[in-house]
Amino acid sequence: MPEKQYPGRVVYIEFDCDKCGTGKMVYTGGQTDHPVFKFVHVCNQCSAVLHAKHAYPVVQFEKVEMKPVSGGKKKESKTESGPFYEIHPAPH
Ligand SMILES: [Zn+2]
Repeated sequence: MPEKQYPGRVVYIEFDCDKCGTGKMVYTGGQTDHPVFKFVHVCNQCSAVLHAKHAYPVVQFEKVEMKPVSGGKKKESKTESGPFYEIHPAPH
């Protein structure tokens, strides 16, 4: 049977505001496609604007590895260029 089941867990990812340090970035429903497609967020405390590649909050599912992970080679997958996100001051 090709289908296999594994134990997993849910990871809930929020984006804390870098500007005020207390607010959370909330997805506005808008996007920007210049120069790269990004989701527009606004801080719920200080109204700073964030353009990110994901719409936060992000929910991810992770497979839980049952056998111990052997240390050593850890390959980081960096295929995308440019900053992962950019933060802008609040518009006046
Ligand atoms: Zn803020």
